[in-house]
Amino acid sequence: MSRVYVLLGPPGAGKGTQAAIIAEKCGIPHISSGNIFRENLQNNTNLGKQARLYMDKGELVPDGVTIGMVEDRLSQPDCREGALLDGYPRTPTQAQALNEFLKKNGNKINAVPFINVPSNELIERLSGRWTCKAEGHVYHLKYKLPKQANICDLDGSVLYQREDDKRETVEQRIKVYVEQTAPLIAFYKKDGLLFEVDGSLPIEQVTDKLMKIVNC
Ligand code: ADP
Ligand code: ADP
Repeated sequence: MSRVYVLLGPPGAGKGTQAAIIAEKCGIPHISSGNIFRENLQNNTNLGKQARLYMDKGELVPDGVTIGMVEDRLSQPDCREGALLDGYPRTPTQAQALNEFLKKNGNKINAVPFINVPSNELIERLSGRWTCKAEGHVYHLKYKLPKQANICDLDGSVLYQREDDKRETVEQRIKVYVEQTAPLIAFYKKDGLLFEVDGSLPIEQVTDKLMKIVNC
């Protein structure tokens, strides 16, 4: 694995949107822990059943389940050239585990772009988000409309509103982010890996700023 990037930011900051664009431009896989969990929910696997208990409440799935799941994904052959992580790590324990996993494989994180957006904007973004059933591509009823109503431009699958994008759950997710994930900002700053980007700019401008941080 050569180039490893971690996209950090609150729920709704635009991590998934940007990760899809950048991964394509850089030719590395976009690994979203949330998307892997949702695939498991849809396929009703044991992992999905376990994860649902936490996801529907806006809580984090326990580290013991999450770390192994992401390490399995990072061990697959398409990650040899690197990976763009979206939504992982989300706790100091996950961040430590990721460093150890990469080190064991003779690797390390290249940069941690931190997409920052104020809380009031996050609520508007998440409550207007529509997600595609097949691959998790995201749209917004005001900021990013699909060409055809309710249909994904990229794979033709149906768009749905995520259970956890309801207002009460959104507020809980932002609280969980502040308490459990925001400490990673200092963690990566200490290592000189953190690069903050203003995520309230339009999608294309955020992409331009991120492309200056990731080296590809
Ligand atoms: P968003 O993109 O809105 O931030 P995600 O799709 O990344 O949301 O995550 C949705 C949910 O999946 C989280 O609220 C949490 O329950 C679970 N989840 C995703 N990634 C992790 C992780 N790294 N650790 C623990 N739980 C996670
Ligand atoms: P995250 O993965 O960080 O939770 P998403 O990429 O899913 O965030 O974006 C959340 C919502 O906000 C989606 O509906 C997306 O279309 C929209 N969005 C993403 N980036 C922007 C932006 N720069 N300006 C306005 N809306 C955006």
